[in-house]
Amino acid sequence: TRPTTFRPTYLEIDLQAIHSNIQSLQKKLRDETTIIPVVKANAYGHGAGEVVTYLEKQGFHFFAVATPDEAVELREAGSQSEILVLGHSPHHFVPYAAQHGIHLTAHSLEWLQHLSPDEKPSLHVKLDTGMGRIGLATEKEVLEAVRLLNDNPNWDLAGVYTHFAKADEERNPHFEEQLNRFETWLSLFPQKPRFIHAANSAAAIQHPDATFTAVRFGISMYGLAPSPWLQQSTDFPYRPAMRLVTELVHVKQLPSGSSIGYGAAYRCEEPEWIGTVPIGYADGLLRGLNQLSVLIEDEKAPIVGKICMDQTMIKLSKAFKVGTKVVLLGSNGVHTIPAEEWAEHLQTISYEICCQLSSRVPRIYP
Ligand code: PLP
Repeated sequence: TRPTTFRPTYLEIDLQAIHSNIQSLQKKLRDETTIIPVVKANAYGHGAGEVVTYLEKQGFHFFAVATPDEAVELREAGSQSEILVLGHSPHHFVPYAAQHGIHLTAHSLEWLQHLSPDEKPSLHVKLDTGMGRIGLATEKEVLEAVRLLNDNPNWDLAGVYTHFAKADEERNPHFEEQLNRFETWLSLFPQKPRFIHAANSAAAIQHPDATFTAVRFGISMYGLAPSPWLQQSTDFPYRPAMRLVTELVHVKQLPSGSSIGYGAAYRCEEPEWIGTVPIGYADGLLRGLNQLSVLIEDEKAPIVGKICMDQTMIKLSKAFKVGTKVVLLGSNGVHTIPAEEWAEHLQTISYEICCQLSSRVPRIYP
């Protein structure tokens, strides 16, 4: 069912596909390994509130987000699950986190040193084993963190984790080095926490020896391969969960020589049927996608002219009726446009495609 939205442009999210991707990963993991669904950036554009509510019904009760505000948003929307903030949280967030079951990332010694001994947060100590982003980066720092944790019994050590820089390629020395360093530094903790996690989608899918007690499952939970390598090197049955749909709102035949759009960048070489769809770069159909074809019934119709902020013109083979569905991302039952195709046009990765579809596009959950 559609929410009340008048513009016929929407993202259709298949929550069952998300669950199916999790089940496919579960088949590869030991039964006791916790899957932490990563729902940062509005669940990679899929709608964090809806994804979490749905997955809670499927029995998932631990999620990861990037920022404190994302955690608060989930809590205020009614989620009762534990939530880990993967990025930095300022110290003035600690009381709220401690009170609301939000786990925080202890990402530097300095951060731990400034944490009040009176607060009772759940902490995941982040180890920078070779990503160079956040985390304790030397054995000395790890030992000092262990000492601080020992001296502050109010602090609950819920997890220790790291993040791989090159898990989405064929197994390589950098990955091995990170894994070894993680194991070594982990052994410096006298008590093992509940959650020991290193793997993102790529590592969870292809490296069972890097799954520890939990994995952080992001991109492939949404049905996208982490990289072209993981698309072709495994038989993981990625089921994309997102479809971007609109419809023709205006159709006309223009005489030969007519120009289309800003800069009159396209000219009809013959009398051509041109359709207009109400979606543009403000929705995430970026201007760099002007070589893309979209799906209309059993045809692929090329975008013509420059993509506008809110509207786009496509070349039709015939006089399609106003109201005919147009699929820009995903399948229409005949053809499919994968996010990877957009990524290729824009010289980026599929992660960026789903994250940049703007909030102006309503998400619907049929
Ligand atoms: N863990 C951390 C710390 C991350 O930053 C991310 C995403 O970038 C993930 C896990 C999930 O990674 P992926 O989407 O590749 O599964």
